[in-house]
Order: sequence, then C-alpha cells, then structure tokens
Amino acid sequence: MDFWCEVDKKKLYSNIDIIRNRVGDKKIVAVVKGNAYGLGIGGISKYIESKVDLFGVATLDEANKLKTQKDILIMSPVCSIPTTPKSNYIFTIDSFNDLNKFKKNTKYRVHIYLDSGMNRLGIKANELDKLLTDLKENYPSIKVEGLYTHLHNATNIEETKKQIFMFRNICEKYIGIIPNFHCLNSKGIVNDELLSEASFTNIVRAGNALYGYDGTNVGIQKVFSIKAKVIKQYTIETDGYIGYGAKRKVKAGTKVGVLPCGTIDKLTYIKNVKTNMVKDCLKAVKSHIKPSTYMYYKGKPIFELCTPNMNCTLIDLTNIETDSKDIIVELSMGSILLDSSIEKRYI
Ligand SMILES: *Cc1c(COP(=O)(O)O)cnc(C)c1O
Repeated sequence: MDFWCEVDKKKLYSNIDIIRNRVGDKKIVAVVKGNAYGLGIGGISKYIESKVDLFGVATLDEANKLKTQKDILIMSPVCSIPTTPKSNYIFTIDSFNDLNKFKKNTKYRVHIYLDSGMNRLGIKANELDKLLTDLKENYPSIKVEGLYTHLHNATNIEETKKQIFMFRNICEKYIGIIPNFHCLNSKGIVNDELLSEASFTNIVRAGNALYGYDGTNVGIQKVFSIKAKVIKQYTIETDGYIGYGAKRKVKAGTKVGVLPCGTIDKLTYIKNVKTNMVKDCLKAVKSHIKPSTYMYYKGKPIFELCTPNMNCTLIDLTNIETDSKDIIVELSMGSILLDSSIEKRYI
C-alpha cells in the first residue's frame, strides 16, 4: 500500500518506561480502545503485552479482539454482558440498571465507575453504599474488584486536585472492601501534582501518553508517523487551473505529485500532536505570513495544490530536489481517525 501508518516500537517502549518510572508500583492499564487510538489494536496489544499489566477497552467487541491472558478492563458500562464471560474480563458497573444484564450465579469481575463531576457516566457517591449492598445481597457471584473515576478537566490542576481529593475521601470508606482504586489517565500520570495527589490509587489508565499525545513535558514521544508515497509525478505544460471547480491556478513548469490519500482518509481533519509550545506559537504566527501545511518531505514542508479530493491529493513538488523515484511524504495528522483498513507497519 502507498498510504500507511508507521509505529515506532522503540518510542512506544520508551513511553511505557517513562510511565512505569513515574507511577512506581501502580499497575498500568494500556488503553487500546478506538483501535488503539487508530494504531491497530492487534499490533499494539501484541507488542506491549509483556510491558503492561492490563488492557483497557471501551466495548466487549474490542475486548474480544484482544488475544491476551492479561486482564481486560471494559471501561464502558453500556457494554453488553456475555453470559459466559472470559475469566480475564472485568466489566464496569455504573448504575442499578446494569445489574439485570448479569446472569445470576455466573462469576463476573467488575469495577464500579463513579461520577466525580464529569456528568457523563458513573454512579453518584451517595448511591454507592446501596449499590454495594444490592450486589452483596442479590448478586453474590459478582466480585467487585475496583472503584474508579475519570478526570475530565485535567489541564485545570487545582480543580482536578479537588476532584482527586474528593475521590480519595470516598475510597477511604472502602479500603479493605474494594482492592483497587484508580482515577489517573494520561494527563494525571504526566503531572507531578496530580500523581502525588492520587498516591492512594494503585492503578493508572494510559492512552494518550502511550502513543505520544500527552506528556511531551516528561519525555513522552509521538510513536507514529503517517506516510504516503507519491504515486504519480508530472510537470504542468501550460498555465491553467488545477483541481475541482478550477479554483486554483497553476503555472507552467509546476511539478505535480499525486498522493493516494484524501478526504476519505480524513486528511483535512488534523488532530495535531503537541510537540512544543514555543514552536506551535511560532507556527501560528508563520502561517499568517506563509500558508500552513500538514505535509513534509524529509522535514521540509510540502504544500497542496488544491484541496484534497476523496482519495487523492495533489501536491507541489516544484522545489523538491530528489533523484529518488520514491517520494514519501509524511502527514502530520492524528492517528485517531485512521481507518482500521489503513496498513500499519510496526518498525
Ligand atoms: C479513554 C479513557 C482513558 C484514557 O485516557 P487518556 O487521556 O488517553 O490517557 C482512561 N480512562 C477512561 C475511563 C477512558 O475512557
């Protein structure tokens, strides 16, 4: 294929090492939902399996895709519950309504999801006692192994510290009853204050920090690059227009390259990976003067000649000097929207 996503395993492992060093003896849940943030749930989970403690997914479907003996935390309470659950599956309960999905007298492992301010999912703290009593009396085959919540505003350190403190007060009531408590996702893991505020927890859940979207401040690196090979090159012979709608002019002598990817590959939807704040600011200023781009050849910016079409994009190669027939362009876009059919190369 001429359009692919490369995953650098060394960087992935280095990110895990950084996370491991930061969290000490807490268990690491590698969050591989959303097809491992677009990087391929099969490949990613295979390569990191021996380096993490659990996997985290959003749905039962995703759990079923994992070939692992490690525990899998299914983080969505809206997931369907199988009648013969695998012994490494851990389900999430977030309300009384969930309970009738569980088959009586079948062993299930669960974590309870607590709402601590996001108002998305989760049970309210004042209902927790009742839920635990209900579970104990009516569902003795369901084993509650954990209590967790989610940080939804972790860039606001002060507010998040309060949220963690509140979660801590709740957890303290259940020490000795529930063995695992967790609340930190990537932003919490890479922040010293939040990490220390959550010292009472014994599990962390890392997604963005695994793949390089969070944590550049502590040395986390982006693990992927999205690349496309120029599949055709030609030189414009006479001045004219290029692309749909004849909106953009091209001059004779312009060297055109065709990339085999376009809007269907979400080329116009860019979730930038933050590399450096100063650089980002400079980029913003520069893009006022010079057109901005998301395409690079050997680090040098390359510009589109017109807006991307459904499955191809025309780029300007006029000033690109190369003898190589293979021009490989790197696209600076997020991995999250990558279609699962896009080839992944784990190098
Ligand atoms: C997606 C998700 C995570 C991972 O969050 P990151 O910010 O990517 O680390 C952690 N916990 C829950 C409940 C999630 O849904």
